[in-house]
Amino acid sequence: MSESDFSIDVAVIRERARAKMEDGPVTPTYGGDVQRVIEILNDVLATELVCWMRYSQNAIACTGIDRAQVAAEFHEHAKEERDHAMRAAERISQLGGDPDFNPETLARRSHTTYATFDDNDLKKMLKENLFAERIVIQSYQDIIRWLGAADPTTRRIMEDILAEEEDHADDLTDLLGV
Ligand code: FE
Ligand code: FE
Ligand code: MG
Repeated sequence: MSESDFSIDVAVIRERARAKMEDGPVTPTYGGDVQRVIEILNDVLATELVCWMRYSQNAIACTGIDRAQVAAEFHEHAKEERDHAMRAAERISQLGGDPDFNPETLARRSHTTYATFDDNDLKKMLKENLFAERIVIQSYQDIIRWLGAADPTTRRIMEDILAEEEDHADDLTDLLGV
């Protein structure tokens, strides 16, 4: 690549940086539909909170011979889902939106469902949590592809979260022995 392939008009950039300072990190070079990105991140936030609650409930409630091992994995996943929720909420705020923690609409907005299971049916619990992970893996991949090059920071956050969801799915698959 030659030097002439890339040029930057610093005068224009400075002028744009001065205008709408109240938008903080969102500048005219933001390539996406910021309102739509905020909406999608709020769905991610709802999904992560529901996953955090489901794993937390299952971790506390599960019983049976393999309880210790399964509970430890569910607790670990619960902690990571909460962390995903906070990363989405933080990004919503950076983009000028309001992170929506309203419990009244959480379940409706979530991609995954909140479910409790027979306390001693560890297999069913593992299976249904694997089902939830396989849902978010697909929806997050779609989000990442949709974001494309428009918002690299949100995309990177979603890519980091996706990698952990794939790790969760792999942990559950290992425990299920399938
Ligand atoms: Fe998650
Ligand atoms: Fe997960
Ligand atoms: Mg794990």
